[in-house]
Amino acid sequence: MITPVANLEPVQLSGTVVQRATLHNEDFVRQLGIRDGDNVWVEKGGEIIPKIVGKEDSGGGRVNSEEWRFITHCPECGAELVRVEGEAAWRCPNENGCPPQQKGKLEHYVSRKAMNIDGLGEETIDLLWERGLVRDVADLYELRESDLSELEGFGQKSAHRILDGIEASKQVPWERVLFAIGIRMVGETTAKKIAKRFRSLQELQWATVEQLTGVEDVGGQIAANIVTFFEREDNLRLMSRLEQAGLQMASAAEETETVSEKLAGMSIVISGVFEKHTRDEYKAMIEHNGGRNVGSISKKTSFVLAGDNMGPEKRKKAEALGIKLMSEEEFLLLVEN
Ligand SMILES: [Zn+2]
Repeated sequence: MITPVANLEPVQLSGTVVQRATLHNEDFVRQLGIRDGDNVWVEKGGEIIPKIVGKEDSGGGRVNSEEWRFITHCPECGAELVRVEGEAAWRCPNENGCPPQQKGKLEHYVSRKAMNIDGLGEETIDLLWERGLVRDVADLYELRESDLSELEGFGQKSAHRILDGIEASKQVPWERVLFAIGIRMVGETTAKKIAKRFRSLQELQWATVEQLTGVEDVGGQIAANIVTFFEREDNLRLMSRLEQAGLQMASAAEETETVSEKLAGMSIVISGVFEKHTRDEYKAMIEHNGGRNVGSISKKTSFVLAGDNMGPEKRKKAEALGIKLMSEEEFLLLVEN
């Protein structure tokens, strides 16, 4: 979204010097008839963000500048801007080729509520971007240890941490994958509801606007955004690369049949707080691999999947019975290999 900003002569306002203030959008600037060199009124919205609220018409200021025109092309990638019917904002439509948009998508993808990939912050994404190592989210799955350990300030340890996080993201359920890929207006809750009705990528990519608006909280605009997303060949290519990388492109309920027998016959207790997955996800993983999740530790417990802040009573009991405590990393290695 392209937001016009006014560069001001510095002015003291509620304790800080203000030099820039938002002009909101094209219509706002036109309505006030603001031009270069005008005197304007500026206010701090909520006492924090400066915004222009009006123009001073009486005397002084105007330097006979020309009528202000909104830019026609994206300042970052040069694509021609579009203005969506009914919206005030101009947008750069080059979603998959405009650097700040691509980086934004990567940041969203790795964020906690999306794929929750540890160790990949804004700075690292910038670095990977500058090196040309990552252009889209599917590129993450092609990263090698040597790509990462060669980065400035990166050792083997941090490289491993990131690669482990990327690996673990392959177990993130379909509803969160759907949120993570960043279809416009498809937030966390909406993604959940859509994933409940369209239980796999296969189903969702052929969904019609009518079918989609049948889902609670999905309006025409969101439905249209989803349909448009899956009409684009570059997006379909991206999704198929993600699928090939081993991501969950279908709801867990369809996978209640066992994926492996690695934990067959085992009784496993989950205790503590985890970083890479939620408890429910671990529970599902145990079940998919043939194990049983049980509530309390006994002689029959095979091992405890132990996160941070495990209860001291449980720890004592496990130690007394000689039952192994397994970290989430060890557990993930066990079920994934
Ligand atoms: Zn752009």
